[in-house]
Amino acid sequence: MKYFSSNSHEKYYSFHEAVTLGLAPDGGLFLPELFPVFPGSIDDLRQMDFHDRIYSLLYPFVEDLIPPDIFGEIVKSVFNFEICTREYSSDYSVLELYHGPTLAFKDFGARFLAAIISYFSRADHKDSTILVATSGDTGSAVASAFYLLPGTKVVILYPSGKVSINQEKQLTTFGENIIALEINGSFDDCQKLVKTAFLDTGLTQQFSLTSANSINIARLLPQAVYYIESYLASSLIYEDIEFVVPSGNLGNLCAGLIAQRILNMPVHFTSALNSNKMFEDYLATGIKTIRPGIETLSNAMDVGNPSNLERLITIFGGPDAIKKNVRAMHFDDDQTIKGIKHFYSEFTGIICPHTAVGYLAASMNKLNGRPEHQIILSTAHPAKFTETINRALGFYPEMPERLQKVLEKNKFSIVCDKDYQEFRRVITNVLASNS
Ligand SMILES: *Cc1c(COP(=O)(O)O)cnc(C)c1O
Repeated sequence: MKYFSSNSHEKYYSFHEAVTLGLAPDGGLFLPELFPVFPGSIDDLRQMDFHDRIYSLLYPFVEDLIPPDIFGEIVKSVFNFEICTREYSSDYSVLELYHGPTLAFKDFGARFLAAIISYFSRADHKDSTILVATSGDTGSAVASAFYLLPGTKVVILYPSGKVSINQEKQLTTFGENIIALEINGSFDDCQKLVKTAFLDTGLTQQFSLTSANSINIARLLPQAVYYIESYLASSLIYEDIEFVVPSGNLGNLCAGLIAQRILNMPVHFTSALNSNKMFEDYLATGIKTIRPGIETLSNAMDVGNPSNLERLITIFGGPDAIKKNVRAMHFDDDQTIKGIKHFYSEFTGIICPHTAVGYLAASMNKLNGRPEHQIILSTAHPAKFTETINRALGFYPEMPERLQKVLEKNKFSIVCDKDYQEFRRVITNVLASNS
């Protein structure tokens, strides 16, 4: 399988290059040259063992570069937690994607990417250092995924005092090959430092710096798996199925469209947005209007300029073609709170604010009389958003043991100024001593 950049079809890259580069040299996003359609029937797929099924679906994307037995081991180690589609009524199911180590769907992408990078590092006899800026969830998923993986080190930059206590503990309590840099600045400052570091060839070469950000193709591919798992179960009962995807950078939606192509699934998609509704406006007008991100209760979706839109446009060709398969709608914070309340009173289930935006979109679809059955993707565990749940329901959700344990551990971070030269000095010292 070869990969190309969304900016040009002229040059092809291997999976190894696409993963290591993250972003194409011309600034585009990598896409596979084709979507390998599963050769058997849906029933064949249903009858396979869980890990064999994932292997068959994903191996064509990495073929030639990773030996079959090693890829089999990678699949087993990445997909080692439950993927559950819970049916609440004949109208709605919820696809629970938060049973991984950091309780959000980002675990799928981060764990797969980590396993792939670790494999390539060992094969190339070259350690990799992953540099990542985080405003919260991505950093913990990446840290947890790379923890103790041979041949890898992770440096996480986070803005001091600007992530929740829960999130900070999830970033700063690993130790070993995970280094937390607490930056005196904003999330934008952290991102700027990371960007500058990747342009600093002296530094990138000395430490083999690699990016783990959300545009990496290896983060998208494993996400196709849960759409297929959910479809295999639900299509036994329902014919007309729509996936409702709480969206920010549109990576999750893109993964759904990849899944649809490799299985020829006759499904539709709704992209559920918060007040950051650039994608909805783009579908309505065909014009991309970039706006600064607006802060909302579903903060992992606060994206003013969704990076994966380029991938969608490349896959479909343009807004009219996208609209035939995908609709988008948005809801504000007051509606989000009502969504959490309503879901609780209807089903006695507790959903996180991102999932609530999905539930609101699904309710709107139902009001409009279609489709038969909707699968709402639940992107995070409600216990990650205790204050919002308390505001909506008047009580705090139960804390899963995994999160409780992390909260009891001691924080360890290295404080660093947002000045690049200072940052460069700190990171050089830390990486030279942590080996
Ligand atoms: C990242 C994230 C999203 C948005 O996913 P995209 O792939 O960026 O569209 C939604 N919910 C949660 C909890 C997230 O962490």
